[in-house]
Amino acid sequence: MDIQKNIEFYSEIASSYLCKCVYCKNYIHEIEATYPQLSTYLKNIGIDITKPFEVLPLNPEPSGYIDYIGAQYIVLGDSQYFQKATIADVTIDITTSHPGTNINEKHFVIEISPIRLKWVLKINPISEKR
Ligand SMILES: [Zn+2]
Repeated sequence: MDIQKNIEFYSEIASSYLCKCVYCKNYIHEIEATYPQLSTYLKNIGIDITKPFEVLPLNPEPSGYIDYIGAQYIVLGDSQYFQKATIADVTIDITTSHPGTNINEKHFVIEISPIRLKWVLKINPISEKR
């Protein structure tokens, strides 16, 4: 992987470009404070934890928490030197099951899983549809 390219890539992603659904907004709001070690680990390879490519949420629980099966991040460069890791009970590994990225240069996608966060936005997506 190319750490310098990733730093540039992530700094160029404007927050206005990120998904605005409640699951992504909640994730972006909570992830760094809830998983500081994971955030540092990703930062060391050039990835901004607050700019996920895709999140895989379950339904918010009445307890005020939400589980995410995982979250995916784009990594520029060659996957050959990427090492699977576990940080604070979260596994970081390459995934091939992800939406199209529309990126032409060499890249791969990693998934961090599982993730459990506070459901801070308190928006129930089911009642919202009424
Ligand atoms: Zn979203």
